[in-house]
Amino acid sequence: MCKALFEPAAAPQSPPSTDDTARAPTSDGNKSAFAARRLTPSTFLIVEVDDVFDEHPFIYAKRVPAARTLVLLDTGCGGRTRRPDVELTPLRVFVETAPVADNGGRPLNARGAWAYVVVLSHCHYDHILGVDQFAHDSPVLVSAHDPTFLSPANLPTHSLCDSLGLESPSFTPSLTPDRAQLVSKDGVSLGLTLLHTPGHTPDELALWDEGDGMLYVGDTLYEDAHIIFPNEGSIVQWFASVDGLTAMLQKSGRAETAKINCGHKTAMGDAMEVLRTTKAFMRDVIDGKEKVKNKMTKRGEEHVEYVQDGGRYSLICPKRLVEEARVACL
Ligand SMILES: [Zn+2]
Repeated sequence: MCKALFEPAAAPQSPPSTDDTARAPTSDGNKSAFAARRLTPSTFLIVEVDDVFDEHPFIYAKRVPAARTLVLLDTGCGGRTRRPDVELTPLRVFVETAPVADNGGRPLNARGAWAYVVVLSHCHYDHILGVDQFAHDSPVLVSAHDPTFLSPANLPTHSLCDSLGLESPSFTPSLTPDRAQLVSKDGVSLGLTLLHTPGHTPDELALWDEGDGMLYVGDTLYEDAHIIFPNEGSIVQWFASVDGLTAMLQKSGRAETAKINCGHKTAMGDAMEVLRTTKAFMRDVIDGKEKVKNKMTKRGEEHVEYVQDGGRYSLICPKRLVEEARVACL
């Protein structure tokens, strides 16, 4: 999402996925900007619970003991919270010091004993503002689909940091090819395949954890909040990426049980069902079966809003992207 650029939004929003009862106290009793819970034996969901942007990004942490590595998918909003009682704000400090009940009361990477591999689902501010806590000693993997999109000259604009008056973080991205098998710094498999999934942005990517049957799709889609395309997005590419993920799952033999995990809102969803129904909603938009609910101008472009009956799926995007998709798809 990039919700801060689109307030006020008219689509129905589900209640916050976490609340004070989910907030993880730190070992010294202070409150944290993050809360974590276990999704699989190896994987945890970390939610940035009250960031100033109301993004509540989902960050995923996969523990790989054989590689003594913690893989982080995304780094959130940098712990920027509006609550004065929150004293633990850096993601790295949370991961290395905050007890997590679902991890036996231990931090996810106690004392930073394990190495990190950081993967950025894409470069929007709500996924990268914590990256500088790791970039000085850890690889930061990004999609190599469109390297110029992430160039130092373009990052402030494409991360949306400029639009929000934020300084974009400084880091050296490791451009990673499509279908790359991720390994630790010692060459040990991390059990993850990186997939290029342009659409939301040119650099959007997905991770596929075949062992756990877990698919991570960043901001490509989610439920119960606007799917947002910035000016740099492409609905045409989005359809191709969703078709590619669907085909990959079908070939994997794990389609029936695979779970989908998104950059906001949706975790542990039925992957095939969510991919199919999101695509059907987007298809209805392109086919004119969904009507424009609202119009607005953002970053110099006319945007349109669509909201599915019941509100499970909704969309805000430049009108131009819908028109391009109609030409390409109809
Ligand atoms: Zn985004």
